Amino acid sequence: MTPKGEPRKSATSRQALVWLGLYLAAVTLPLFALLPGSESGYGFTWDFAMALGYAGVAMLGVQFALTARFKRATAPFGIDIVYYFHRYLAVCALVIVFAHYGLLRWNVPGMLAPVDPRFAPAHMTAGRIALGAFIVLVVLSLTRRALRLEYDNWRGMHAVLSSTAFALALWHVLGAAHYLDTAWKQVLWAVFGMFWLSLIAYVRVVRPWRIARRPWRVTEVRPERGRVHTLRLEPVDRRPLQFAAGQFAWLTLRASPFAMREHPFSIASSAECGMFIELSIKELGDFTSTIGSVKVGETAWVDAPYGTFGIDLRPDASGYVFIAGGIGIAPVLSMLRTLADRQDRRPLWLFYGNRIWERVAFREELDELVRRLDLRLIHVLQEPPAEWAGEQGLLTQEILSRHLPTERSGLECFICGPTPMTYIAELALGNLGMRASHVHSEIFDWV
Ligand SMILES: Cc1cc2nc3c(=O)[nH]c(=O)nc-3n(C[C@H](O)[C@H](O)[C@H](O)COP(=O)(O)OP(=O)(O)OC[C@H]3O[C@@H](n4cnc5c(N)ncnc54)[C@H](O)[C@@H]3O)c2cc1C
Repeated sequence: MTPKGEPRKSATSRQALVWLGLYLAAVTLPLFALLPGSESGYGFTWDFAMALGYAGVAMLGVQFALTARFKRATAPFGIDIVYYFHRYLAVCALVIVFAHYGLLRWNVPGMLAPVDPRFAPAHMTAGRIALGAFIVLVVLSLTRRALRLEYDNWRGMHAVLSSTAFALALWHVLGAAHYLDTAWKQVLWAVFGMFWLSLIAYVRVVRPWRIARRPWRVTEVRPERGRVHTLRLEPVDRRPLQFAAGQFAWLTLRASPFAMREHPFSIASSAECGMFIELSIKELGDFTSTIGSVKVGETAWVDAPYGTFGIDLRPDASGYVFIAGGIGIAPVLSMLRTLADRQDRRPLWLFYGNRIWERVAFREELDELVRRLDLRLIHVLQEPPAEWAGEQGLLTQEILSRHLPTERSGLECFICGPTPMTYIAELALGNLGMRASHVHSEIFDWV
């Protein structure tokens, strides 16, 4: 089953090119405001500084689209890559906007209004505040972990600061109105600004409102090994969720969808039954450590499905290799349960790394899946018990090559676990001759 709106493999790179083209168009469109016929007469530095200003503001506008989670736009790349792109482009945009200001300040200071807001036009002060807000925004995002800022608090600040700063930047552009000397250019910029402001309204108001219209109910809370809890959720309107094995959901509990306190979790249940979904959540931090106290009957808000990690985007494989570390087993479990429900007989390998045997989540169910599937289950334990005869230590190339067949060209491989394990596994599979296009990774800490 391929979920509605997800690309097929052959179309993916074409779609990626189209979206990259659209990105470039959105960033360069405002430069049309600088078309010949509107030369300023202030020289190259001035013109260049203005071009930087326009391009920088356009890039900042596109930043909202990048995290708006439009499925069609994120599918060709993977949502994690889009978030990385968002982060690096924010720094580029800030450098560009700062260069706009710096060039003017140090080369043509006489053209700038006084810094004191009492003597400066409001749109110039708006521009300066926007620049300051963007600097705070980027610095806070890059140092969030070092500053030990709680994720949800940071996200709230990020939303407020970015929307306000962008609105102020637009005010600055329209107020300064350089090169906007004809009606059509003013219309172009007004439409451009309205477009990005409506996008912000969509993300902050329309989408939460749509999520709020479709409540879900917690129908089971199951403790698992290794400080993991599985929540079973059912849609109150009993409309099944169509998703592909390996995709994830944004979950909000004990807060309104408007509060933006949602967390991403892989759907661990079988994609063959959308009447409920199961999320297996490991107690790790502020939100996840409260998961065991969730009660049956509580309301949950679910925004799903997302992601391009999964067997259904590679349906023609001759077999699948799964590599999971810790709670990275969640999307793999969904894929295995789905394959079992479909009575799939293709050969499967699961390398499952954990520290301690007693904390290996779902190990009994995995034994059951071995019976239902053509599955080779290879546990890799860092601290094995005395009588352990299986693989031990960290996952290595040697462990992989010991268990994988020599003919691997038709296999597709899915990796989900801690970032260092993911890099080691990718490298090892490459050394073992697996093509990069056959190796897919899901990273849990991309935000
Ligand atoms: C695609 C994807 C699928 C995931 N699937 C699972 C799963 O099946 N099971 C599971 O246990 N974990 C999963 N995670 C990880 C899970 O989302 C985080 O562990 C959880 O959000 C941490 O929240 P916390 O407040 O408990 O931890 P904290 O200690 O507050 O945060 C730890 C880190 O988690 C990230 N994080 C925190 N809150 C959010 C948020 N609201 N949105 C995004 N990231 C956040 C941040 O990078 C933060 O620094 C998945 C993550 C992603 C990206």
